[in-house]
Amino acid sequence: MTTTHFVADLPVTDVDVLVAGGGCAGFGAALAAARDGARTLLVEQAGFVGGILTRVGNPWFDGVAHLGSGRIAVGGIPVEVLQRLDLAAVGQTHLEHPFLPLDPEAFKHVADEMLTEQSDSLDLLFHTSVAGVRAADGRVDEVVLANKAGLTVVRPKVTIDTTGDGDVAAWAGAPIERSMPMQPLTLHFRVGNVEDSDTLTSRMREVVEDLHDSGDLGLYFFHAEHDDFAHAPDELVFNITRMPGDGTDPADLTAAEIRGRKDANALVRAWRERVPEFRAAYLIYSGPSVGVRETRRIVGDYQLTEEDIRTSRRFDDAVLKGVFYVDIHPTDRAGTHDYDAWTPEPYDIPFRTLLPQGWDDLLVAGRCHSATRRAAGSSRVTATAMAMGQAAGTAAALAVASDRRVRDLDMTTLQNALRGAGVILD
Ligand SMILES: Cc1cc2nc3c(=O)[nH]c(=O)nc-3n(C[C@H](O)[C@H](O)[C@H](O)COP(=O)(O)OP(=O)(O)OC[C@H]3O[C@@H](n4cnc5c(N)ncnc54)[C@H](O)[C@@H]3O)c2cc1C
Repeated sequence: MTTTHFVADLPVTDVDVLVAGGGCAGFGAALAAARDGARTLLVEQAGFVGGILTRVGNPWFDGVAHLGSGRIAVGGIPVEVLQRLDLAAVGQTHLEHPFLPLDPEAFKHVADEMLTEQSDSLDLLFHTSVAGVRAADGRVDEVVLANKAGLTVVRPKVTIDTTGDGDVAAWAGAPIERSMPMQPLTLHFRVGNVEDSDTLTSRMREVVEDLHDSGDLGLYFFHAEHDDFAHAPDELVFNITRMPGDGTDPADLTAAEIRGRKDANALVRAWRERVPEFRAAYLIYSGPSVGVRETRRIVGDYQLTEEDIRTSRRFDDAVLKGVFYVDIHPTDRAGTHDYDAWTPEPYDIPFRTLLPQGWDDLLVAGRCHSATRRAAGSSRVTATAMAMGQAAGTAAALAVASDRRVRDLDMTTLQNALRGAGVILD
């Protein structure tokens, strides 16, 4: 038996499906499980869902469409989100711009609507953390939640770990791996009242390089192209700071928040002094929280590889398509574009990558599913995580309805249910 962080004699709630973490994957998982009739509880540390889109402030909703042709590759809940935000029409097969920024406030509102529409079967607990797990013999028996009411226990029939960090899986004792050193943490920030010009990018870059050379700026990723005017023609969104650290270590997270704010303030101050287009610019906000690219990944019944992506390998148990390039950020150097700009054709992501080896009632979706580091560099992106969550939620509801272990599900039944919900598998 594995018992971590567990306290006895706490109030207990029984649910069919517990979704731990409400990032893109958790949002898709909770919605799908509840729509398919399972009594579902979604718990999220923040006061809203969205993870990177809302909690970290990175607006790019990647993984919906093939980057070359713009052909939509995922369908299902990610495309429904675009429709609800008036960014895609029903029946549309292509997106004009596959790199699609979402307005975080609009997303929060639409996500609230989509989730509360399922209130007959879905309970939401924001400001709530998963804090412990009791597990034995490949089953998660009880999960401890911590919030302003204190500690409570949930007894789920199926648990979906969408914490991004595989918290439930790791604490339960499921097999996990980490690639060291982990990709850097990043604090996003938005700067308003910037004048656009043809020379803006090069002037900004000069300042960034000088600050780094003088030791006033840590590692950085300079990606300030004009498409970073994501929300308004005078407002820039920056994904520029880079802090080494482990996103599962509270001390590293704290240090990264402080270093990120120091770097953001140093950059805006220097740009205001040296770049005329920034004369009246101001820092709107940072974060809200530092972004975590990678920590733990489960070791599943199958581990997705870069080769699978490069060859668009087909799998009998495919439950969604990935489509993004392999995007890995280094911790040993500052710089500009350092991702692999090669664009894959839509590739299959198998159900077995959501199943931790040896576990019967636990699914893991999003950036901590089972993939090599390089493969996860593609499969971790937002819309792909949301579609992966949808697959996990649908599978969990089917398992509950048929009283089976998630690993005993019939793949054709699962795939047909996903197709019925608009997911593209073929
Ligand atoms: C700096 C940065 C830039 C990126 N750029 C892009 C980009 O341009 N385009 C793109 O598509 N993708 C980008 N990504 C990748 C992508 O955003 C993530 O990989 C994706 O959002 C993963 O979704 P997720 O739901 O698996 O995890 P997350 O978004 O991390 O969501 C996990 C959620 O679980 C919650 N949580 C965690 N632990 C607990 C707990 N114990 N209890 C309760 N709740 C918990 C968190 O609050 C969070 O809401 C970027 C990531 C980072 C960090």
